[in-house]
Amino acid sequence: MPEDTPLLMIPGPIELSPAVSAAMAGRTRGHLEPAFVSCFGKALKMMREVWLAGPDAQPFVVAGSGTLAMEITAQNLIDEGDAVVVVETGYFSERMAEILRRRGAQVSMVHAEAGDAPTTDQLRTMLATQPHPVAVFATHVDTSTGVRVDAKAIAQIANEYGAMVVLDGVCAVGGEALEMQAWGVDVALTASQKAIGLPPGLALLVASKRALARRAALQRSPSLALDFAAWQPIMQAYEAGTTSYFATPATNLVVALEVGLGELLAESNSAATAMALRLREHERAASAVRKGLSCYGLAFVPRSPELMANTLTACYLPEGIGPELVAGIAKHGVVVAGGLHPAIRTRSFRIGHMGHSSRTPQHLLRCVEAVGLALKGLGKEVDQVSASRAVLSELD
Ligand code: PMP
Repeated sequence: MPEDTPLLMIPGPIELSPAVSAAMAGRTRGHLEPAFVSCFGKALKMMREVWLAGPDAQPFVVAGSGTLAMEITAQNLIDEGDAVVVVETGYFSERMAEILRRRGAQVSMVHAEAGDAPTTDQLRTMLATQPHPVAVFATHVDTSTGVRVDAKAIAQIANEYGAMVVLDGVCAVGGEALEMQAWGVDVALTASQKAIGLPPGLALLVASKRALARRAALQRSPSLALDFAAWQPIMQAYEAGTTSYFATPATNLVVALEVGLGELLAESNSAATAMALRLREHERAASAVRKGLSCYGLAFVPRSPELMANTLTACYLPEGIGPELVAGIAKHGVVVAGGLHPAIRTRSFRIGHMGHSSRTPQHLLRCVEAVGLALKGLGKEVDQVSASRAVLSELD
């Protein structure tokens, strides 16, 4: 990438790998062309591997964003009056709650302050007060705070109470641990523009057998375009190597999806091993960025290291410096994001380090350096040499 091209380090969309970029730029395929059918089928099979889902889980790929994947999930799992529990971690868990309320669910929130996650005891207590909790919804990584929940523990508790488990993994799938089958997760949803490594445009989700059965038992059908029942035969047809039409797939993105998922799985023939290696890469990238930023004296929004996501870092702005820092960083060629959580919107900023950038030391270094230069430009004394050394020593 030429030095004067801005480097995109927001928590999605992200920088693309050269192979994904090339796939996006290829000729637009027809959705019934045999080569496209083969691509789509392979992508669906690989989704089951990336999610570590069982053979009976159903992947869905629909043109749209992560919010659409949230809507699809709510519409297919929830009936009017169902009791659901939402684990509150910030902006995106509140969005999930609003989608569920509009579907007619009785939503109970398990509360946490910005930068924190509810405890497992809080979740148990909430579930114990519900006569029949239908599902627990958690945001695996809340992009507004950089907080990662213990998704495995949440799934275990929800299952103890007979509730389905939904993970909003928009800022997690591909960069955080996920074992959909082993943990008993019913829907893990994401979007293409984060750790999956594509441009925006695809809503992606994998549904368990229990989630599909729940759709079949609903009193109130989902909207047609969001219905598992409309999409499942299409996904099954593509996976079987045949065609079927319901609504036109985003063909360029699906071609790129096969490439992107292939990159995630490339390191090993075992999906579990390949995903563990991707996880390790994201852990190292996160640690490198945070070690560098710590040299500038920046404090992180998540209240403890266990809560800090691998995919992004949310920092507090230092004393005396406001949101103009983000524009200052952009002047040094790196695009980062401002605050999002309403409680800390003007006091924080966020850096994404996932997908291609998580395995590109130059991106991580350039980003930390740009933050240092911007801080300096705003009058803060910073030790740039130590920060750069800290980043590189983590990536050795
Ligand atoms: N959930 C989370 C955790 C997210 O980070 C986002 C997007 N930043 C969404 C949901 C919504 O996704 P989209 O913007 O693609 O609709």
